Amino acid sequence: MSSESEQTIADRLAHVEARIAKACRATGRDPAEVRLIAVSKTHDADAVRAALAAGHRVFGENRVQEAEGKFPALKAEYPDLELHLIGPLQTNKAKDAVALFDVIETVDREKLAAAIAAASEKTGRRPRCFVQVNTGEEPQKAGCLPAAADALIAACRITHGLDVVGLMCIPPIDDEPSLHFALLRKIAARNGLHQLSMGMSSDYEIAVRQGATQVRVGTAIFGQRDYSAG
Ligand SMILES: *Cc1c(COP(=O)(O)O)cnc(C)c1O
Repeated sequence: MSSESEQTIADRLAHVEARIAKACRATGRDPAEVRLIAVSKTHDADAVRAALAAGHRVFGENRVQEAEGKFPALKAEYPDLELHLIGPLQTNKAKDAVALFDVIETVDREKLAAAIAAASEKTGRRPRCFVQVNTGEEPQKAGCLPAAADALIAACRITHGLDVVGLMCIPPIDDEPSLHFALLRKIAARNGLHQLSMGMSSDYEIAVRQGATQVRVGTAIFGQRDYSAG
């Protein structure tokens, strides 16, 4: 296993869950309202197994191909495992993504919404979707611009019939994250969306205090990622 022992992963999961619960209590929220997505990208199946052994069932991956290498076998073994796609999706991978993922968090353009809808029709699977908003308006980052969000949400729902449940954002590295979380919450509220996917290892407690209904935590559970291992 990628350097982290099974016990370490179980301990870290418990630690993150406890901090989420504490952040919930501090703002009068029910900890049951917040789901922890364990982001296992770059970590091997044994790391995921350690989290599964500790009772965790919700995971996030950012690449379709990498997830295809790890998760079909794990899903067969744990039918209640729930897998979220949290990385950018190319339209030509939409069918593979729909076949494997239970939730797609990165819908950011109408062409992709159409590809997901077509894949749903073919596969009979209808993943829950989040529209990703580029709250920092960073040119290199995925996500629709805040000003385009209302129209995209409507098109996803009405034109393409997607099951849009909420919004997702990744704040710019150097910005105060709470400004971005507040903006995401505002866009969700005016569109009648109840789920907010926001907060990562460095800022998930802030996100919970700002209304996150799911946080995506990798490093704080699985340890540092080693991209050199390929
Ligand atoms: C990798 C990733 C995360 C987890 O990041 P950590 O800082 O390791 O917690 C969360 N969200 C997205 C979209 C990611 O790509």
